Amino acid sequence: METDYEKIGLKVGLEIHQQLNTSAKLFCNCQPELFKEQPEITFLRRLRPTQSELGQIDPAAYFEFQKGVKILYEANRATSCLVEMDEEPPHPLNLEAVNTVLAVALMVKAKPMDEIHVMRKTVIDGSNTTGFQRTCVVALNGEIKVGEKTVPIQHAGLEEDAARKTGEEEGNIIRYRIDRLGIPLIEVATAPVIKSPKEAEEVAFAIGRILRATGKVMRGLGTIRQDINISIPNGALTEIKGLQELELVPLVVEYEVQRQLNLLKIIEELRKMGVKEEDIKEEFCNVHDVFKGTKCKVVRKALDKNQQVLAVKLPKFNGFLKRELMPGIRLGTEMADRARFWGRVGGIFHTDEMPAHGITAEEIEELKKAVKAEEQDAVVFVADSPENSRDALKAVVERAREATKHVPEETRGPNPDGTTRYMRPRPGAARMYPETDIPPTQITEEHIRKVRSHLPEFPEQKLERLIKEYKLNQKLAKQVLDSEYGELFEIVVKESNVSPTTVAAFMTETLKALKRDGVQVEKVSENKIREIFRGIGSEKLTKEAIPDIVSWLSQHEDESVQEAINSIGLKMLSGE
Ligand SMILES: [Zn+2]
Repeated sequence: METDYEKIGLKVGLEIHQQLNTSAKLFCNCQPELFKEQPEITFLRRLRPTQSELGQIDPAAYFEFQKGVKILYEANRATSCLVEMDEEPPHPLNLEAVNTVLAVALMVKAKPMDEIHVMRKTVIDGSNTTGFQRTCVVALNGEIKVGEKTVPIQHAGLEEDAARKTGEEEGNIIRYRIDRLGIPLIEVATAPVIKSPKEAEEVAFAIGRILRATGKVMRGLGTIRQDINISIPNGALTEIKGLQELELVPLVVEYEVQRQLNLLKIIEELRKMGVKEEDIKEEFCNVHDVFKGTKCKVVRKALDKNQQVLAVKLPKFNGFLKRELMPGIRLGTEMADRARFWGRVGGIFHTDEMPAHGITAEEIEELKKAVKAEEQDAVVFVADSPENSRDALKAVVERAREATKHVPEETRGPNPDGTTRYMRPRPGAARMYPETDIPPTQITEEHIRKVRSHLPEFPEQKLERLIKEYKLNQKLAKQVLDSEYGELFEIVVKESNVSPTTVAAFMTETLKALKRDGVQVEKVSENKIREIFRGIGSEKLTKEAIPDIVSWLSQHEDESVQEAINSIGLKMLSGE
């Protein structure tokens, strides 16, 4: 059945972040690059928010901090200096980055600020060595035309990118690499006026085109991250954070609407059955004895370590935990994610998926007896340390209570298939305070005039030109415009003498197909792509060989095109 999003009252806002390809980072002169070798420098820190900042910290972050997590930072000298290590004050804002945002701002008719003030946004998960992220608004109140609709742009700004996690947590230590810290990110945010998944996709692409028009954005996986705010009446505002693939935007929106509608249905049914929030009690029962002789490996392991098996009854929840909210994500999954987050447990067990995991029907009967559960009740249990088990079940109870009254406001993270998982509660507002180490940057009329006189070609103009100049059909020209390789297209056509349609098909369809097959095409440099096409132009290679060469090069980053040809065993046969 088609979903009528207009009728549902869907509202979507987009916030797009993309790394800028500037010659230096935002607040120092380091190279905005990632390194893959072993780090030259490591240092250990524990973040301590100051008293005055505590009031502004969201509960989830404070929770992390309380758990005494330490962070091991990794760095090398080319990509980090004392600024990233928070041992030296930041330098003034990188003007190249400011000018790029100004160009985007003017292209979407936003009004530049007279002065740019850098602000601090509290972040204590360790992804920033300072405990905050620096961010600034560069322009306000623009608009972008998408089809017939005008979508307001709330602001365009600049942010410093955060350090990246390089491993899972081991014994309260998290590893972060600070090469990414300080890479400039442009941020463009729309008003929440988008009304359907399709429209969200169109807006995301339209903004993407403007960003790429500047010729100053990085490309490849991880260089673009979108936050999507989704809400429906009676539902909640969900923030989906860090989506990397534009193509997934419509699916993510669709699934989130589905999830909220299914949660509303569950609320309705529980209400009809007379289940009330206060019926769900934090009464945890140690069911150690039930599992004395269990064959379940997880429970066995916990018991062998003298840990606990703790259970809680969810009255009248039988059958609800296996209710699917979106593909593969059930109400039980939502509870498990909460338990993992707040209790640091590996997962939960519940009666809706039993018997399974080596747990027998008899054990389940015993378990139900132990917690005095009836036929229509569900039981959730965990096997972990006493503290973790308690925290995990508390989180499960909290989630069950919410299931009787409202859709919770959450920050969620995207999965590769477009579904999402609980990340943390939504942080409260007003987490910003001024960055006192950086003086405001004045933006004079003269400055704006200069940027305006060098504005890049607008996407619509470029589309027309691609069709006219290169005789591309409308569809292919549009694909080139939306490709990360749009810039490269013209360079390659001009120097290689290969037909524009062939080059365009490569930049769009071929690269997309290769990516789909898991080839990391971003590992093949522009120069190598240019060399491949020069080879085709001079008839040393055929276009049929391109996919093989590109996929070989993606696995052999330091090798040449000639080496690829030799290795694959390609050579031209003479006409003869
Ligand atoms: Zn630096």
